[in-house]
Amino acid sequence: MEMTCPKSGKCPIFQGGVLKRANSERVYRSLYCNAGSEKYTKCMRYIVAEKAGKPAPISVLPNCSKSVDEILKEL
Ligand code: SF4
Repeated sequence: MEMTCPKSGKCPIFQGGVLKRANSERVYRSLYCNAGSEKYTKCMRYIVAEKAGKPAPISVLPNCSKSVDEILKEL
């Protein structure tokens, strides 16, 4: 498995410039996106995208506290 999330190429959190605080994006990248498959598969954006078959909305952050079902219902 890759160290970097396979969704990173199209993920706005990874690409950067979407959150008010650039530092938050850096933290997410180090905690999830670039932290190996064990971590990026726990990212809520990753999980939602896998289940929904399409990218997660930008409002869903890697550590989003909602349940997957709640998020999917709102899509
Ligand atoms: S935020 Fe989540 S889905 Fe996006 S690149 Fe990082 S680990 Fe992957």
